[in-house]
Amino acid sequence: MDSITHLLWHGGKFLGIDWSVVKVVGWVGNLIFTSRFIVQWYATEKSKRVVVPQAFWWLSLVGSLTLLCYSVFQKDSVFIFAYAFSWFPYLRNLTIHRRNKAASTVCGGCGQKNPPQANYCPNCGGKIG
Ligand SMILES: [Zn+2]
Repeated sequence: MDSITHLLWHGGKFLGIDWSVVKVVGWVGNLIFTSRFIVQWYATEKSKRVVVPQAFWWLSLVGSLTLLCYSVFQKDSVFIFAYAFSWFPYLRNLTIHRRNKAASTVCGGCGQKNPPQANYCPNCGGKIG
């Protein structure tokens, strides 16, 4: 118990970190950015195939923009460069995801949503369209 307390409070600081608003922004950004892997892993385990859910791209976008803010506040050129352009593919994937969802077809037989290019429903075998 004493060693746990020592880990949490080190040098009179929580986790031994010099806490400031900028540090909190950085850690929140880290938390958001890292959580996307848990979301993606959960979605993959749930559907028993590799899946990248829309939430993954939202967490990537918000997390990277938060980390970009942190790196700008810190004036760290390495991390500014790392997060300055990463938002583009996240935004692009969100756009493609939204377009694909809008173009998906619903099976008249069972009501399952199917990919835009599907001619037959993989759930009930009924013809689509
Ligand atoms: Zn169907």
